[in-house]
Amino acid sequence: MKKFALIFLSLMLIVISLASCTKKEEKTLIMATNAAFPPYEFMDGDKIVGIDAEIAEKIAEKLGMKLEIIDTEFNSIISGVQTGKYDIGVAGMTVTEARLKNVNFSDSYATGIQAVIVKEDSTYTSYEDFYTGFDDDGNPTGVVEGIKIGVQETTTGDIYASSDPVDWGFGEENVVRFKNGAEAVQALLTDKVTCVIIDNEPAKSFVGANEGLKILDGAYTEEDYAIAISKEKTELLADINKALAELKADGTLDEIIEKYIPSK
Ligand code: GLN
Repeated sequence: MKKFALIFLSLMLIVISLASCTKKEEKTLIMATNAAFPPYEFMDGDKIVGIDAEIAEKIAEKLGMKLEIIDTEFNSIISGVQTGKYDIGVAGMTVTEARLKNVNFSDSYATGIQAVIVKEDSTYTSYEDFYTGFDDDGNPTGVVEGIKIGVQETTTGDIYASSDPVDWGFGEENVVRFKNGAEAVQALLTDKVTCVIIDNEPAKSFVGANEGLKILDGAYTEEDYAIAISKEKTELLADINKALAELKADGTLDEIIEKYIPSK
Protein backbone atom coordinates (compact mmCIF):
# COMPACT_ATOMS: atom_id res chain seq x y z
CA MET A 1 0.00 0.00 0.00
CA LYS A 2 2.74 2.40 1.10
CA LYS A 3 4.67 1.67 -2.08
CA PHE A 4 1.68 2.57 -4.24
CA ALA A 5 1.15 5.78 -2.35
CA LEU A 6 4.78 6.68 -2.95
CA ILE A 7 4.59 5.94 -6.68
CA PHE A 8 1.37 7.90 -6.89
CA LEU A 9 2.93 10.84 -5.10
CA SER A 10 6.00 10.94 -7.32
CA LEU A 11 3.82 10.69 -10.42
CA MET A 12 1.81 13.65 -9.14
CA LEU A 13 5.01 15.61 -8.61
CA ILE A 14 6.16 14.89 -12.15
CA VAL A 15 2.82 16.03 -13.55
CA ILE A 16 2.92 19.24 -11.50
CA SER A 17 6.47 20.13 -12.52
CA LEU A 18 5.69 19.40 -16.17
CA ALA A 19 2.68 21.68 -16.00
CA SER A 20 4.67 24.53 -14.50
CA CYS A 21 7.32 23.99 -17.18
CA THR A 22 4.92 24.45 -20.05
CA LYS A 23 3.50 27.51 -18.31
CA LYS A 24 6.93 29.12 -18.20
CA GLU A 25 7.31 28.48 -21.91
CA GLU A 26 4.45 30.88 -22.70
CA LYS A 27 6.12 33.50 -24.87
CA THR A 28 6.43 37.07 -23.67
CA LEU A 29 5.23 40.04 -25.69
CA ILE A 30 7.43 42.98 -24.75
CA MET A 31 5.73 46.34 -25.02
CA ALA A 32 7.54 49.65 -24.70
CA THR A 33 5.71 52.76 -23.59
CA ASN A 34 6.24 56.07 -21.84
CA ALA A 35 4.08 55.96 -18.73
CA ALA A 36 3.59 59.72 -18.42
CA PHE A 37 0.80 60.02 -20.94
CA PRO A 38 -2.55 59.67 -19.15
CA PRO A 39 -5.07 58.19 -19.81
CA TYR A 40 -3.21 56.06 -22.38
CA GLU A 41 -0.40 55.11 -19.99
CA PHE A 42 0.42 56.26 -16.49
CA MET A 43 1.66 54.91 -13.18
CA ASP A 44 -0.80 53.62 -10.59
CA GLY A 45 1.54 52.93 -7.69
CA ASP A 46 4.27 50.86 -9.31
CA LYS A 47 1.97 49.49 -12.01
CA ILE A 48 1.67 50.85 -15.55
CA VAL A 49 -2.02 51.22 -16.39
CA GLY A 50 -4.17 52.95 -19.00
CA ILE A 51 -5.87 52.40 -22.35
CA ASP A 52 -2.73 51.18 -24.13
CA ALA A 53 -1.77 48.80 -21.32
CA GLU A 54 -5.23 47.24 -21.33
CA ILE A 55 -5.46 46.94 -25.10
CA ALA A 56 -2.02 45.31 -25.19
CA GLU A 57 -3.04 42.94 -22.39
CA LYS A 58 -6.06 41.80 -24.44
CA ILE A 59 -3.96 41.41 -27.57
CA ALA A 60 -1.34 39.35 -25.71
CA GLU A 61 -4.13 37.16 -24.33
CA LYS A 62 -5.41 36.51 -27.86
CA LEU A 63 -1.89 35.67 -29.05
CA GLY A 64 -1.44 33.29 -26.12
CA MET A 65 1.42 35.40 -24.83
CA LYS A 66 2.34 37.03 -21.55
CA LEU A 67 2.57 40.83 -21.67
CA GLU A 68 5.56 42.63 -20.20
CA ILE A 69 5.45 46.44 -20.21
CA ILE A 70 8.65 48.46 -20.17
CA ASP A 71 8.60 52.15 -19.31
CA THR A 72 11.09 54.17 -21.33
CA GLU A 73 11.47 57.59 -22.90
CA PHE A 74 9.09 58.21 -25.80
CA ASN A 75 12.15 59.09 -27.81
CA SER A 76 13.63 55.59 -27.63
CA ILE A 77 10.52 53.51 -28.39
CA ILE A 78 10.79 53.42 -32.21
CA SER A 79 14.51 52.61 -32.23
CA GLY A 80 13.98 49.89 -29.60
CA VAL A 81 11.23 48.33 -31.72
CA GLN A 82 13.48 48.54 -34.77
CA THR A 83 16.36 46.72 -33.09
CA GLY A 84 14.06 44.07 -31.60
CA LYS A 85 14.62 45.14 -27.99
CA TYR A 86 10.83 45.51 -27.78
CA ASP A 87 8.21 43.62 -29.79
CA ILE A 88 5.75 46.49 -29.88
CA GLY A 89 5.56 50.18 -29.07
CA VAL A 90 2.19 51.27 -27.68
CA ALA A 91 2.31 54.86 -26.52
CA GLY A 92 -0.54 56.88 -28.00
CA MET A 93 1.78 56.91 -30.95
CA THR A 94 0.72 58.78 -34.07
CA VAL A 95 1.25 57.21 -37.47
CA THR A 96 3.53 59.49 -39.50
CA GLU A 97 5.28 59.12 -42.85
CA ALA A 98 8.68 59.54 -41.20
CA ARG A 99 8.05 56.82 -38.61
CA LEU A 100 6.71 54.48 -41.30
CA LYS A 101 10.19 54.53 -42.80
CA ASN A 102 11.50 52.81 -39.64
CA VAL A 103 8.65 50.65 -38.36
CA ASN A 104 5.31 49.22 -39.41
CA PHE A 105 2.11 50.36 -37.76
CA SER A 106 -0.93 48.25 -36.93
CA ASP A 107 -4.40 49.41 -37.91
CA SER A 108 -5.38 52.48 -35.93
CA TYR A 109 -7.14 51.93 -32.59
CA ALA A 110 -7.81 55.56 -31.59
CA THR A 111 -7.62 59.12 -32.85
CA GLY A 112 -6.02 62.09 -31.17
CA ILE A 113 -5.66 65.79 -31.76
CA GLN A 114 -2.90 68.11 -30.69
CA ALA A 115 -4.33 70.55 -28.17
CA VAL A 116 -2.86 73.79 -26.81
CA ILE A 117 -2.72 74.30 -23.02
CA VAL A 118 -2.22 77.80 -21.59
CA LYS A 119 -2.50 79.39 -18.15
CA GLU A 120 -6.10 80.19 -17.24
CA ASP A 121 -5.39 83.96 -17.28
CA SER A 122 -3.69 83.83 -20.70
CA THR A 123 -4.79 86.50 -23.18
CA TYR A 124 -4.43 84.04 -26.07
CA THR A 125 -7.69 82.52 -27.27
CA SER A 126 -6.37 80.34 -30.10
CA TYR A 127 -2.98 79.19 -31.38
CA GLU A 128 -3.62 81.51 -34.34
CA ASP A 129 -3.04 84.40 -31.90
CA PHE A 130 0.61 83.29 -31.70
CA TYR A 131 1.15 84.54 -35.25
CA THR A 132 1.83 88.15 -36.24
CA GLY A 133 0.01 87.95 -39.55
CA PHE A 134 -1.09 85.87 -42.52
CA ASP A 135 -0.31 86.01 -46.24
CA ASP A 136 -2.83 86.09 -49.10
CA ASP A 137 -3.15 82.29 -48.98
CA GLY A 138 -3.97 82.50 -45.28
CA ASN A 139 -0.65 81.02 -44.14
CA PRO A 140 1.12 82.53 -41.12
CA THR A 141 3.99 84.93 -41.87
CA GLY A 142 5.60 85.29 -38.45
CA VAL A 143 5.44 84.45 -34.75
CA VAL A 144 4.72 86.92 -31.94
CA GLU A 145 7.97 87.88 -30.24
CA GLY A 146 8.71 86.00 -27.03
CA ILE A 147 6.33 83.08 -27.61
CA LYS A 148 7.75 79.84 -26.20
CA ILE A 149 6.02 76.64 -27.25
CA GLY A 150 6.51 73.72 -24.82
CA VAL A 151 6.44 70.23 -26.35
CA GLN A 152 7.49 66.66 -25.54
CA GLU A 153 10.61 65.94 -27.56
CA THR A 154 10.20 63.99 -30.82
CA THR A 155 6.41 63.81 -30.56
CA THR A 156 4.18 65.02 -33.36
CA GLY A 157 3.52 68.16 -31.29
CA ASP A 158 7.28 68.83 -31.42
CA ILE A 159 7.58 68.01 -35.12
CA TYR A 160 4.72 70.27 -36.21
CA ALA A 161 5.49 73.12 -33.80
CA SER A 162 9.16 73.15 -34.89
CA SER A 163 8.34 73.62 -38.55
CA ASP A 164 8.30 77.08 -40.10
CA PRO A 165 5.35 79.46 -39.67
CA VAL A 166 4.44 79.05 -43.34
CA ASP A 167 3.75 75.35 -42.52
CA TRP A 168 1.81 76.35 -39.39
CA GLY A 169 4.76 75.75 -37.11
CA PHE A 170 6.36 78.29 -34.81
CA GLY A 171 9.99 77.91 -35.83
CA GLU A 172 12.64 75.75 -34.17
CA GLU A 173 13.90 78.76 -32.14
CA ASN A 174 10.55 79.22 -30.39
CA VAL A 175 10.13 75.61 -29.28
CA VAL A 176 11.25 74.29 -25.88
CA ARG A 177 11.52 70.49 -25.63
CA PHE A 178 10.82 68.37 -22.56
CA LYS A 179 11.25 64.66 -21.84
CA ASN A 180 7.53 64.19 -21.21
CA GLY A 181 4.22 65.98 -20.90
CA ALA A 182 4.37 66.31 -17.12
CA GLU A 183 7.65 68.24 -17.33
CA ALA A 184 6.30 70.49 -20.08
CA VAL A 185 3.22 71.27 -17.98
CA GLN A 186 5.44 72.02 -14.97
CA ALA A 187 7.31 74.57 -17.10
CA LEU A 188 4.00 76.18 -18.12
CA LEU A 189 2.91 76.43 -14.48
CA THR A 190 6.14 78.25 -13.66
CA ASP A 191 5.84 80.56 -16.73
CA LYS A 192 8.86 79.14 -18.52
CA VAL A 193 6.75 78.56 -21.65
CA THR A 194 3.70 80.31 -23.12
CA CYS A 195 1.80 77.12 -23.87
CA VAL A 196 2.16 73.35 -24.16
CA ILE A 197 1.13 71.55 -27.34
CA ILE A 198 0.22 67.97 -26.54
CA ASP A 199 -2.37 65.30 -27.42
CA ASN A 200 -5.86 66.25 -26.24
CA GLU A 201 -6.55 63.45 -23.76
CA PRO A 202 -3.30 63.91 -21.81
CA ALA A 203 -3.99 67.65 -22.08
CA LYS A 204 -7.34 67.13 -20.34
CA SER A 205 -5.70 64.99 -17.66
CA PHE A 206 -3.02 67.58 -16.97
CA VAL A 207 -5.54 70.43 -16.87
CA GLY A 208 -7.73 68.38 -14.51
CA ALA A 209 -4.81 67.59 -12.22
CA ASN A 210 -3.35 71.10 -12.03
CA GLU A 211 -5.01 74.32 -10.95
CA GLY A 212 -4.91 77.36 -13.25
CA LEU A 213 -4.67 75.79 -16.71
CA LYS A 214 -7.04 75.66 -19.68
CA ILE A 215 -7.17 74.21 -23.19
CA LEU A 216 -7.63 76.63 -26.08
CA ASP A 217 -10.48 76.01 -28.53
CA GLY A 218 -9.62 74.39 -31.83
CA ALA A 219 -7.50 71.39 -32.81
CA TYR A 220 -3.92 72.08 -33.89
CA THR A 221 -3.76 68.75 -35.81
CA GLU A 222 -5.74 65.50 -36.09
CA GLU A 223 -3.98 62.14 -35.92
CA ASP A 224 -4.33 58.34 -35.81
CA TYR A 225 -2.81 56.23 -33.02
CA ALA A 226 -1.45 52.78 -33.80
CA ILE A 227 0.93 50.11 -32.51
CA ALA A 228 4.53 50.19 -33.78
CA ILE A 229 6.02 46.84 -34.82
CA SER A 230 9.37 45.94 -36.38
CA LYS A 231 9.27 45.78 -40.18
CA GLU A 232 10.73 42.27 -39.88
CA LYS A 233 7.86 40.92 -37.75
CA THR A 234 5.18 40.80 -40.44
CA GLU A 235 3.51 37.77 -38.90
CA LEU A 236 3.16 39.59 -35.57
CA LEU A 237 1.70 42.58 -37.44
CA ALA A 238 -0.95 40.37 -39.04
CA ASP A 239 -1.75 38.67 -35.71
CA ILE A 240 -2.08 42.01 -33.94
CA ASN A 241 -4.35 43.43 -36.64
CA LYS A 242 -6.53 40.33 -36.39
CA ALA A 243 -6.70 40.65 -32.59
CA LEU A 244 -7.47 44.38 -32.86
CA ALA A 245 -10.28 43.72 -35.35
CA GLU A 246 -11.81 41.20 -32.93
CA LEU A 247 -11.51 43.61 -30.01
CA LYS A 248 -13.19 46.32 -32.10
CA ALA A 249 -15.96 44.00 -33.29
CA ASP A 250 -16.90 42.61 -29.85
CA GLY A 251 -16.90 46.02 -28.16
CA THR A 252 -13.87 45.39 -25.93
CA LEU A 253 -11.94 48.31 -27.39
CA ASP A 254 -14.82 50.74 -26.82
CA GLU A 255 -15.23 49.42 -23.29
CA ILE A 256 -11.57 50.06 -22.47
CA ILE A 257 -11.69 53.56 -23.93
CA GLU A 258 -14.98 54.33 -22.15
CA LYS A 259 -13.41 53.22 -18.85
CA TYR A 260 -10.67 55.85 -19.11
CA ILE A 261 -12.47 58.49 -21.20
CA PRO A 262 -16.12 58.38 -20.07
CA SER A 263 -18.35 59.78 -22.81
CA LYS A 264 -20.37 61.66 -20.18
N1 GLN B 1 0.78 61.20 -30.33
C1 GLN B 1 2.03 61.83 -30.13
C2 GLN B 1 3.10 61.22 -30.98
O1 GLN B 1 2.94 60.15 -31.45
C3 GLN B 1 2.48 61.80 -28.65
C4 GLN B 1 2.63 60.44 -28.08
C5 GLN B 1 3.25 60.41 -26.69
O2 GLN B 1 3.80 61.38 -26.22
N2 GLN B 1 3.19 59.30 -26.01
O3 GLN B 1 4.12 61.79 -31.21
